[in-house]
Amino acid sequence: MTVEKEQALRVHQQRFGREGRGFAAPARVNLIGEHTDYTGGFVMPMAIDFETVAVVSAREDGRAVFYSANYDEEVGFEIASLTRKPVGGWCDYPAGVLWSLREEGVVVGGFSMSLAGDVPLGAGLSSSASVEVATAMALLGHAGMELPLEKIATLCRRAENEYVGAKSGIMDQFVVVGSVANRVMLLDCRSLEYGLLPLPDEVRVVICNSMVKHAVATGEYGDRSAEVEAGQAVLRRERTGVELLRDATLDDLEACRDMMSAASFKRCRHIITENARVLEAREALLRGDMARFGTLMVEAHSSFRDDFAASCEEVDELVVIAMQQAECFGARITGGGFGGCTVNVVRAEAAEKFVATLRRGYAAKTGIEADCFVCTPSDGAFALAAKGGVA
Ligand code: ADP
Ligand code: MG
Repeated sequence: MTVEKEQALRVHQQRFGREGRGFAAPARVNLIGEHTDYTGGFVMPMAIDFETVAVVSAREDGRAVFYSANYDEEVGFEIASLTRKPVGGWCDYPAGVLWSLREEGVVVGGFSMSLAGDVPLGAGLSSSASVEVATAMALLGHAGMELPLEKIATLCRRAENEYVGAKSGIMDQFVVVGSVANRVMLLDCRSLEYGLLPLPDEVRVVICNSMVKHAVATGEYGDRSAEVEAGQAVLRRERTGVELLRDATLDDLEACRDMMSAASFKRCRHIITENARVLEAREALLRGDMARFGTLMVEAHSSFRDDFAASCEEVDELVVIAMQQAECFGARITGGGFGGCTVNVVRAEAAEKFVATLRRGYAAKTGIEADCFVCTPSDGAFALAAKGGVA
């Protein structure tokens, strides 16, 4: 049992006077395949060694009571009175999962739940999917039910899209449920077919938080997906066989150039080329060709910066400094954009040196101290439950 889980169980017992059962879910990072998930494309994420723990115990008054140790705050309501009415706080995430489970026909009796985690919040490592999936696993355990991977991922995504009201594809929730240690996931976001690929022992994945999040982020993310969807609609109308952007080629896009805005054209070009890069990255990984893998990451960054226009100066700087280091195979922005984190694939033996040089170079250039994490591909919620069992 992890330290987080032990502590969460103890805190729960003290607060609610009952022993609870603990369920854990990791965070994630995306190696390549950015903004491709909501148009049915390909992504290559992995779960990382941060986790959120949800501890649950029964109560007899028909209420749902959530306590977050991260916020040191408790929120409760009658389960029967739950409607789709977000209040705008952290509780929307677990309450959204309760709502989403009910939409699936899962009957959940009164419960107390404690949430605690070491995932950096709002840093682009998907603490949101982590808290959703931990909540779903705990509530299913409480209801004595099991659901398959796709179902849990889909209902957690629904909680985030429809209850919380945040746009996101299926990637985060899927990888947080279904990952396996020492593997990265290649996910087809349309069919939800996936493969688990080994990451060579000689590399490490380093996440570097630029510590900036440009204020435009929320609105801009909305704009980007609107531009993508507008372009996709043109392609669907004009080109036979194109249902989702994932079906389109660059020739299809070129043929429709005059029918869409210049912005839509570029956003779609990023996604079409990015899908091809993910599939090529899979081949490179299977060959153990990390040099090619790294080049694809850098190309993905350039495409995100120039065609998707969703990077920023600080993050670009992190990528430049990273790529000046011989031990770095590839570096790119990861997550929604406009700040947040980069993901770097580096030689294992030089990971610590890489981190030190990157932090020093970034501070010299921007005056900002970046948080860096050397990560291992970790188990998803299913694998954690199977290994650790329930507490
Ligand atoms: P990210 O997913 O990149 O971390 P989001 O803005 O999508 O950023 O999600 C962060 C939100 O998820 C937090 O602001 C909070 O509302 C919720 N959250 C995450 N972890 C916890 C937790 N342990 N307890 C309560 N809420 C959490
Ligand atoms: Mg999130």
